[in-house]
Amino acid sequence: MSQVCTVCAHEDAVLINEDIVGIGERGRPSKRSIAARYGLSEQALARHKGHIPQLLVKAAEAEEIAHADDLVHEIKTMVGRVRAFIDKAEAASDGPEFRAHAAEWRKQVELLAKIAGELQVEGTSTTNVALIHHPDYARLSDAILGALVPYEDARYAVAEALREIE
Ligand SMILES: [Zn+2]
Repeated sequence: MSQVCTVCAHEDAVLINEDIVGIGERGRPSKRSIAARYGLSEQALARHKGHIPQLLVKAAEAEEIAHADDLVHEIKTMVGRVRAFIDKAEAASDGPEFRAHAAEWRKQVELLAKIAGELQVEGTSTTNVALIHHPDYARLSDAILGALVPYEDARYAVAEALREIE
């Protein structure tokens, strides 16, 4: 007995598909939230997965790549700012200040790890745009480690954190 997909047959099917791939107005809502909003079962949403138009899936992937680019840019800016503080502390031979900024640096690297992990988890079926696979990532980590050469402790901490996410 054949069954009509309740999602495909839904009057808001377009909006539901946008929500599922994460390019709708509400960002990337959970399956449960989509199901509740449109009066569908989570099982119906799961069954519907293969019915999402390829064009929409591709659009979501393009959006995700753009998002990863934004993140890399954002992180580069942060790294530059923290480096300016580290330079200032070094110029003033301020040990405690230097350590504080090195700790901040480490926090940002951990945040980067978290973001990379989320991109991996949420990546759509065919293309996983994990930040660590982004072409800019290798250059970014090289730049960070290069800038930290004079700071043995911080360099070690960052290298360790990077190894954890790679
Ligand atoms: Zn369907």
